[in-house]
Amino acid sequence: MKGTTKRIHNSGSVPSSDCLFCKIIAGKLPSYKVYEDARYLAFLDINPFATGHTLVCPKKHGETLWDMDEHEIGELFAVASRISRSVVSAMNADGFRILQNNGEAANQVVPHVHVHVIPNMLEDKGKFAPRQKLSPEEMQRAAEAISKELLG
Ligand code: AMP
Ligand code: ZN
Repeated sequence: MKGTTKRIHNSGSVPSSDCLFCKIIAGKLPSYKVYEDARYLAFLDINPFATGHTLVCPKKHGETLWDMDEHEIGELFAVASRISRSVVSAMNADGFRILQNNGEAANQVVPHVHVHVIPNMLEDKGKFAPRQKLSPEEMQRAAEAISKELLG
């Protein structure tokens, strides 16, 4: 089949035992959790582009979309889409961006598949959004607001 021989270069490749997000999924490292079910975990990005910037991860380790079958890819984006409604609602945002990086060339830093859900405000349209550093209280408040929306 066309397009199946080239590999994605990822210098950050690690076994799942050394994977940062596998450790978060296993509860060995802390996170600001917003959603969890049997197959997915969503938590706040520690260095967000906006308050409420959420990462949605399959619990099963895989580095890129190419490590997942099409059903799993579809389900991951369906979960991210569902979570986006709560992120937008909880942050009182006007839109959202979905970002998903595969490989070092695409700026993938953590070699465990994840979908970014980033809320956007109309007043920031067209502006460059730098990474932010929020206080633990601000992170906790955002995580609670999003998870409350997801439950309600
Ligand atoms: P990517 O560039 O797509 O691999 O995105 C990785 C994201 O993970 C970045 O936006 C980081 O800010 C974020 N990140 C790194 N370490 C943590 C962590 N311990 N908890 C939450 N997010 C993290
Ligand atoms: Zn992993």
